Amino acid sequence: MLTRAEIDVSGRRYRLPSSPQVVVCIDGSEPDYTARAIEHGAAPFFARLMREGTPLTADCVVPSFTNPNNLSIVTGVPPSVHGICGNYFWDRDAGAEVMMNDPKYLRAPTILAALADAGARVAVITAKDKLRRLLGHGMRGVCFSSEKAADATLQENGIDQVVQRVGMPVPSVYSAELSQFVFAAAVELMRRERFDVMYLSTTDYVQHKAAPGSPAADRFYAMIDGYLAQLDALGATIVVTADHGMNAKHLPDGRPNVIYLQDLLDRALGERAARVILPITDPYVVHHGALGSFATVYFERAADAAAAQQRLSDVAGIEQVLSRADAAARFELPPDRIGDLVIVSRRDVVLGTCATKHDLSGLDEPLRSHGGVSEQRVPLLMNRRASGLDPKRRWRNFDAFDLALNHAQA
Ligand SMILES: [Zn+2]
Repeated sequence: MLTRAEIDVSGRRYRLPSSPQVVVCIDGSEPDYTARAIEHGAAPFFARLMREGTPLTADCVVPSFTNPNNLSIVTGVPPSVHGICGNYFWDRDAGAEVMMNDPKYLRAPTILAALADAGARVAVITAKDKLRRLLGHGMRGVCFSSEKAADATLQENGIDQVVQRVGMPVPSVYSAELSQFVFAAAVELMRRERFDVMYLSTTDYVQHKAAPGSPAADRFYAMIDGYLAQLDALGATIVVTADHGMNAKHLPDGRPNVIYLQDLLDRALGERAARVILPITDPYVVHHGALGSFATVYFERAADAAAAQQRLSDVAGIEQVLSRADAAARFELPPDRIGDLVIVSRRDVVLGTCATKHDLSGLDEPLRSHGGVSEQRVPLLMNRRASGLDPKRRWRNFDAFDLALNHAQA
């Protein structure tokens, strides 16, 4: 039985907060980024958190992409339950590639909406607008993106005059400042009005370009560190996690290390026998050219799927080729939104469709990307000691709210 101080969301219980709680999803935050920034003296708040708080590592959801993981974190359940397993899927009935960033594809309620319904004051701030409607679905409270901060209205976003409040111009969608705006806004809102719960989500623009410990990465984590220290000083319990890690995926000469799956399958089976979908594809592909380590393939004939599974398993650089049923079971994915095969490439390899279809002109640094099992390890860090933790537990990034609400010591 639930007490009045608890809520139940998709079968998991969460205590209502008695002090401010901030869950932060740092996009593409492979654990080495914070480790190296601490080594370089660029992240004193993270250093203290490692000593005095609860530093854990967790597994994210595969495909290790942004939307499936952000939605897992805010619902507390994997994509098999909430339904969002990428940016795109192939709708066989409609005969079209369909974008999954509409809330109508969401199959589970968010913890944020449930907390707001229970009377908590909730704010969601995300860097890119593509996530905003999914994260804020059904939620009463404040919900806006840095990208569209200038357009925020009381009616749509629960807040207006965001740019004036934050005192920072709206940054370019391809910039480190787009993420900085999220933190600057969070500190400003927390200082002026007490929020019970905040969810902050950044963009991986920096991580796609800069390796852990590089000057650009250290500068970015120093920026985050400074804002988190301010939220900490305001009394917030902070849990930091990531939607996925990030790895270098290029050849020694700097060119992306790509397997073009559609070209390969067209040669093997004939054109139009297979349809390769890259669920990383979205309206903002400049920094990764839509190349990641996860693909799904739909076949016209079932026999082709079996033949292709065998053939692709032998391709160097491909780590796993799974049938729909096996992929759904292993990665906790909704079987109706993945293809006949799921393909995961090795740590240093990405998957493309046709060589002619990827615009790589925007890649001004050697490719770093994500999507595979190799980007599954992410940080799960809390600025409080925790109680009642099972030392054998396999932590997931979507345990972030469980950790903050149910295990933080005052
Ligand atoms: Zn991401």
